[in-house]
Amino acid sequence: MPYQTLLTKHRQYFDTNVTRDILWRKQQLQAIKNLVIENEKEILQALQDDLAKPTLEAWITEISYITSDVDHTYKHLKKWAKPSRVSTPIVVQPGKSFIKPEPQGTVLIIGAWNYPLQLVLAPLIAVIAAGNCAIIKPSELAPAISGLINKLVPKYLDNNAISVVEGGVTETTALLALNFDHIMYTGNGQVARIVMAAAAKHLTPITLELGGKSPVYIDESADLKITAKRIAWGKWMNAGQTCIAPDYLLVKENLIEPLTLALKAQITAMFGKNPQTSKSYGRIINQRHCQRIASYFNDGEIVVGGESDIERCYIAPTIMINPALDSPLMTDEIFGAILPIVTVESFDKAKLFVKQREKPLSAYIFSRDSVQIEQWINEISSGSQCINDVIMFNAVPDLPFGGTGPSGIGQYSGKAGFDNFSHLKSVLKRPFIKDIPVRFAPYSQWKLKFLRFIR
Ligand code: NAD
Repeated sequence: MPYQTLLTKHRQYFDTNVTRDILWRKQQLQAIKNLVIENEKEILQALQDDLAKPTLEAWITEISYITSDVDHTYKHLKKWAKPSRVSTPIVVQPGKSFIKPEPQGTVLIIGAWNYPLQLVLAPLIAVIAAGNCAIIKPSELAPAISGLINKLVPKYLDNNAISVVEGGVTETTALLALNFDHIMYTGNGQVARIVMAAAAKHLTPITLELGGKSPVYIDESADLKITAKRIAWGKWMNAGQTCIAPDYLLVKENLIEPLTLALKAQITAMFGKNPQTSKSYGRIINQRHCQRIASYFNDGEIVVGGESDIERCYIAPTIMINPALDSPLMTDEIFGAILPIVTVESFDKAKLFVKQREKPLSAYIFSRDSVQIEQWINEISSGSQCINDVIMFNAVPDLPFGGTGPSGIGQYSGKAGFDNFSHLKSVLKRPFIKDIPVRFAPYSQWKLKFLRFIR
């Protein structure tokens, strides 16, 4: 079906008010959960085909993530969708004022490949919860999941309201030319600029979920073993292809050696002596990205790992020290299995290092020093933060997820997602009781005096 016809079909359905009904929204949410649960085996296989995702990793980050998100949204939907009263000042009395969340219409959801199922279904949960229709465009770089979404969504969800378009740049460009009511894009900043320019043509609201270089500061007071374990998990999960993975570490000189040893021990404990043979270690999405990541090996000194097998999309968990700060390793988002360690003289220098660069999607600190922790929270601007852990804030459904500035615009997860895809409409309701006539012409001195008095 031509894309414009598809959009018109959803718009017409939206105008019937079916999607505004809370019961319809709940049915669709339940259908998303059924889709995931009843097809778990096929989904895990597709994630294996696209990214060699280890089963447990895939289950936590794609299957369970979605079912938990549905449960949380389902439970709170009625409360979120309720109009909320605000106080009404005397000049508009008698009257009632309230905020009514209303759906926006039809939302275009453009997904990325690294968590290819989660990155379309989690936004879809929020979009449906808010009472909207949607056209989903999964990433063509994860073809097995894209095909599966295209097969399963029409089977489980209301086709009048939700549809899937598969494809790459050509198809996305054609979709972006249309007049959607909201566009939600997950991916890199370069394409985000194209999306934003297309949205500007129709003044369409946008949500941009982007990436960046998420830093980690570690000081002497941190428990190095626990720190290394949490960082190693967050960095090498999905072979480093996680938007909120630690991108680089900031540490003082004296910590470099013990930290490297602690991280190395964790790599061995998690993935064995040869991670290429480990069933717990994933692969890079394609050879092009693998080549890009391997080229960073030249930008510093490799102290752990450094092996690659481009043909099989493998990059070993790698630690590098003394990275050239003007090299691609330190100027671009790594989005792969390399962890550079940057030496800093002090905590203040570490903060400055982060502040002088683009605002990251996440920023982490490992420390027992409460003063430093407070300063990190107060001074470092980032989409989100974890103290003494990485990534795990994302397991808290009521914490909004999203970047700031170059790392993104808008947030979702929990109520933030519901609000993001709603318009919060202001309503004042008044009865037919005669007004105090002060606001009406003809104006007079006593009316002005009265208004000054009640103000
Ligand atoms: P990608 O290549 O899958 O592209 C994302 C989407 O953009 C795809 O659906 C693709 O078809 C579309 N696209 C690509 N080029 C286009 C063009 N010229 N015009 C219109 N559409 C186009 O994914 P990617 O960009 O490689 O994703 C990786 C980036 O995404 C990283 O920067 C990562 O940090 C970020 N990311 C962010 C989040 C988040 O939630 N904030 C999550 C995952 C990934």
